[in-house]
Amino acid sequence: MNQPPTLLLAAAIADGSGRCFSPGAMLLRGRSIETVGSPQRLGAPSPGMDVRRWPGSVLIPGLVNAHAHLDLTHVGPLPHTGDFISWVERVRALRAADDQAIAASVRRGAELSRAGGTVLIGDIAGVRSSVPVHALRETGLPGTSFLEVFGLGRRQAEAIDLMTQRIASIETDAAGVRLGIQPHAPYSCGTDVYAAACRLRLPLATHVAETLEELRVVATGDGPLAEMLQRLGVWDDSIRGCGGHPLDHLAAHFASVPFLAAHLNYVDDAHIEALSRWPITIAYCPRASGYFGHPHHDRPAHRYRDMLAAGVAVALGTDSLLCLDTPGRLSVLDDMRFLHRRDGVDPITLLRMATVHGAHGLERDPGPVTFQPGVTAGILAVDIDSASSLDPLRQMLRRDDPPRWVIEPSRGAWP
Ligand SMILES: [Zn+2]
Repeated sequence: MNQPPTLLLAAAIADGSGRCFSPGAMLLRGRSIETVGSPQRLGAPSPGMDVRRWPGSVLIPGLVNAHAHLDLTHVGPLPHTGDFISWVERVRALRAADDQAIAASVRRGAELSRAGGTVLIGDIAGVRSSVPVHALRETGLPGTSFLEVFGLGRRQAEAIDLMTQRIASIETDAAGVRLGIQPHAPYSCGTDVYAAACRLRLPLATHVAETLEELRVVATGDGPLAEMLQRLGVWDDSIRGCGGHPLDHLAAHFASVPFLAAHLNYVDDAHIEALSRWPITIAYCPRASGYFGHPHHDRPAHRYRDMLAAGVAVALGTDSLLCLDTPGRLSVLDDMRFLHRRDGVDPITLLRMATVHGAHGLERDPGPVTFQPGVTAGILAVDIDSASSLDPLRQMLRRDDPPRWVIEPSRGAWP
């Protein structure tokens, strides 16, 4: 009951709520943080205190991956050749087909997520299967498993029936993993499917404004994505373009219920203003976006900084391992590094995206992914060169070291 306190001393200690001490000290009892500050402020360790020194490391909270496809982990990194359409068709062919293979892929994805310092995940649970949610629950990695739904035109009623049946057979919250619903995207789901998903009172996610092909098919009902959907036999003559952007097309839904929306590679000024009014969180997957070569056709770079400046919560996601250059881990730490190197984003903003905003998007208390007093979801050490005069946080983002656990991640429940 009355555990002796632990004192952690490190080159730096920082979180996404703005706490940043270099060097840093933290006083803990078990998994409960008591104080964070400079070593001088916390004072000399008292007798009997367990002192652990991390002079060559930065300590940060466990990370939140807001958008992953763990059931694709078995494919591994896949070089991107050709266009988005041929890539989608290739991935459809590579997907694990039987339940055991799907479960094994989710388990491997959860292992790689742990290796990447993940304490909470938003996982897109494959195609019409309850296997990924059960598999994720067995791993103990907390998060939300979003069951993915597809249905256009006259196929919508059938899609809604299937979705309703599936969710009736799965517990909505067990082993730290909530059940959510993901209408796949506005080009693969009609608005009836979105409306039905919104009525379920479950966590909601979707892909939106990911490609220019999507913008075209949503506006005009034609182009390469329409042709792909015709080839797949899921298109019918009741499907029409809406004349607008995917965000305008789904505005009524986004304005009414919280959504965790992945990508948003193509948005305009007016959309950023709308996003700031909606209860929406953006799951930006920078490395995946770069993998597909966005932005295409001289369109502006991703607007995540404008979104953040407008008060929109922008979380980070990895998307699937297929798009990544880190076969040994699934970690938004590497997406933080990618943004720091490409755009020079400051470390605290990146930490906020990788922790607080992710927890917000997954509708969890963000406290356990900050260093505020209370129970932590896990604490990471990331190695740096202690002899270097460069700011430790910037060093952390300029290197490629994997994170290590200082306090192991919580399992089977969100603290
Ligand atoms: Zn995705």
